[in-house]
Amino acid sequence: MSPAPVRAPSRLDPRTRDRRRPWLWALLVLLLAVAQTLLVLMTQAYEDSRRQQHTHEQSAEVAARVHQLSNRDVQALQGLLWTTTDRRRWRDEAVEQLRRFRSLLRVESRDADSRLQEAVSSPYRAPVFLDEQRGQFQADTDLACAAALRRQGNPQYSRSYFVPRGDGEGGEVVDVCQARMEGGVVRSYLVATLSLAALLDEALTPEQAHGYEFSFVDGDGSRLARAGLVRGRGVYRSERLIELPGLSLMLRVDSSAGPPGLIPSLSTALVLGLSLALLAVVVLLARDGRRRALAERRLAQSLAFRQAMENSLMAGLRARDMDGNITYVNKAFCAIVGYEPRELLGQDKPPYWPPEFVETYRQRLRERNALVAENERRGLGESESWRSFETVYLRASGERFPVMIYEAPLRDADGSQTGWMSAVLDITEQQRMEEFSRAQADRLQASARLAAVGEMASLISHEINQPLAAIASYAAAARNLLADGHEDAQSQEMLRRTAERIAEQAERAGRVIKSVHDFVRRRERAHEIVPAAELIEAVLPLVRMQARKGGIRISVEVPDPSPAVHCDRTLVEQVLLNLARNAIQAMEGGTPPGQRQLVLGVSMATPRWVVFTVTDSGPGIPPEVGRKLFTPFFTTRTEGMGLGLSLCRTVVEQHGGAMDFRSHDLGQASGCEFRFTLPATTGGNAP
Ligand code: ADP
Repeated sequence: MSPAPVRAPSRLDPRTRDRRRPWLWALLVLLLAVAQTLLVLMTQAYEDSRRQQHTHEQSAEVAARVHQLSNRDVQALQGLLWTTTDRRRWRDEAVEQLRRFRSLLRVESRDADSRLQEAVSSPYRAPVFLDEQRGQFQADTDLACAAALRRQGNPQYSRSYFVPRGDGEGGEVVDVCQARMEGGVVRSYLVATLSLAALLDEALTPEQAHGYEFSFVDGDGSRLARAGLVRGRGVYRSERLIELPGLSLMLRVDSSAGPPGLIPSLSTALVLGLSLALLAVVVLLARDGRRRALAERRLAQSLAFRQAMENSLMAGLRARDMDGNITYVNKAFCAIVGYEPRELLGQDKPPYWPPEFVETYRQRLRERNALVAENERRGLGESESWRSFETVYLRASGERFPVMIYEAPLRDADGSQTGWMSAVLDITEQQRMEEFSRAQADRLQASARLAAVGEMASLISHEINQPLAAIASYAAAARNLLADGHEDAQSQEMLRRTAERIAEQAERAGRVIKSVHDFVRRRERAHEIVPAAELIEAVLPLVRMQARKGGIRISVEVPDPSPAVHCDRTLVEQVLLNLARNAIQAMEGGTPPGQRQLVLGVSMATPRWVVFTVTDSGPGIPPEVGRKLFTPFFTTRTEGMGLGLSLCRTVVEQHGGAMDFRSHDLGQASGCEFRFTLPATTGGNAP
């Protein structure tokens, strides 16, 4: 337990903190969403540029290859240029070349005037055109040959042109013309026709054919020839110019790949996955934060509640560690002893201990600690209930005062004892009140008893009058006997009997006085176990004395064996005496002499309670009197004080019992019954 008031850990006002928290979380989520979107976009852009780059690379690669293939074809045909004399051999070699290179469709030999000498077509395809059709497509070829001538016989390409086939299809072809020069004069020409589609097809690797569409396009963008196993999507394109002697070809590469999707690649999937994981962590953190904030708020509330409770307590609270050092005091405690908390905290010999008791108090703490240690060693554990004891403290003003201390072990979260917690009550006022009310009750009882005695004085004088009258007459008789001088044996005997009578009467008078004396003087207050019959017997002589005057019959109804009660016998006897006296007075006032009867009874109500009854045959109690019966100083008698019944009830209630009455008026038989209970001793009967 901390002595100082607990503060919230943050310097911010908790309400401001609570208001800001949702905004902070919203900002965090927003930042995460932006970062995630940017990441995805960047990954997409990267993927996009990578695909475009790849397409460029493909176009460069294929263009170089087309270049290379066309050079190869031209070089392969060089041999044929010089094999002009032997026509048969020329044809064989030409067929051989057409077989080797699939892009070659036709090879023809021409004389110096460009007239067709010999022509061979590829054995793999239908002939491009019949020899007789050749004239239609001759113009570009002738231009190429003229250019070849100009360039000293070096190969020269014609413009590409479309050759339709009979089936409606056709293909774009290009001619390459080489001239054989001898001594600066042209001797012959060699013209080869190449299929652009086949050339392109040959230039592709299988991977390229599966991923891209390749085509040659002319200036206006229309396609001349295409190759590749897929269609381009028109998203990633690359165009490259292939320069051949006399011919420029535009190669276009079109990737079959479309734009990257939301999850275009593993890297984006990873980024997305990580972002989602991050988001999940943030959500979990937010939930955890919310729970924590809730717990914090509850803690703060319970701390405030505890603080308010401690401050409002009237009882002083004090905590001590096992060495007796004070670790906590509340406001009420400081108010009781008159010291400030700083004067008390950490003290093992607090200033409110009277110097003469310091050692006693320390010893008491040592004993309690030893008991706890012993119990723990034996595995019994300390009882958690508060133990109470009364002791004396010293106020800062120097005044000594009594306190009641309730002490219980103080345990930490693990359940091990860390010290003692005490509730301290200043009982000065309580003791003063108790003393005062005790003195009041004593005074009240004394005056009630004296009042009762006063009332009885006339009765006593009546009682004592009888023996005194008897003594006087016996004494007169004795004096006469002596005066007459009778000295015979008979007279002696009479004298002796007269003296005995005098002694008896004197004893009787003495008994009357003693019983009154006993009643008035008996003051001891001890509770004891008394058989109920004994209580009745004790008051019976006095009751009889009062009853005799009014001719009242008395009967006693006590079970045999008599139950025993635990009580202050003097007080209970007085209760019985009061009730009996009230009954007698009531009957004397309103009951014909023959019908006056008083019954003193005892019975067991339950095994725990013994009931005493005092029943009379008086006039009973009217309801308006009954309502005020137990009010002090209420009386209907001119010489009464009205204290008897209220005193009786107080006595009975002090014993833990209860008192009531029943009034009855049944035709001729009226009367009243007062009953009260007293705690029975175990077993209910007298030992
Ligand atoms: P006191 O005897 O001095 O009047 P009590 O407190 O003993 O004071 O009695 C109060 C009143 O209760 C009596 O004045 C009487 O009127 C009434 N009372 C008490 N006991 C009986 C009884 N047995 N029968 C009828 N009235 C009774």
